[in-house]
Amino acid sequence: MEKTLVILKPDCMEKRLCGAVMDRFQKAGFDIVACKMMRLTDELLRDHYAHIADKPFFPALAEFMGSRPVIVAVLQGQNVIARVRELLGPTDSTKAPKGTIRGDYGTDVSVNICHASDGTDSAAAEIKRFFKAEEVFA
Ligand code: UDP
Ligand code: MG
Repeated sequence: MEKTLVILKPDCMEKRLCGAVMDRFQKAGFDIVACKMMRLTDELLRDHYAHIADKPFFPALAEFMGSRPVIVAVLQGQNVIARVRELLGPTDSTKAPKGTIRGDYGTDVSVNICHASDGTDSAAAEIKRFFKAEEVFA
């Protein structure tokens, strides 16, 4: 069974959309096997976004991601990494089709409701970054 990491971002929290977003994942057949609320520190964000830490938009992104506590969760199911990315839609909410989570609820290329791991390696690394082994009920 495959696992992926999702983060319900500050805009999702502020808009009270956590239930709506999790409902889409659960209706697609995926199980929540870990879940916690936390405020993302600068150190955690530098690790999590290491692949884009040198981009000009990174400081604004880090400020947004740390602006309020978020919900971090691990989802499990068949092909969950690719399927959750499909359910989210593309990064830029303004280009995401209606019917996708970002297309329906997101604001722009930065403020886009939810993070999800983009592959097997990143999923494993991200789950380890946010959860101890005993916190994942897989
Ligand atoms: N991001 C941004 N500006 C950009 C591209 C990305 O603020 O031009 C933010 C956005 O919140 C995105 C995150 O950085 O979700 C990570 O970028 P990535 O390319 O990994 O997109 P994702 O995997 O989230 O679709
Ligand atoms: Mg990404």
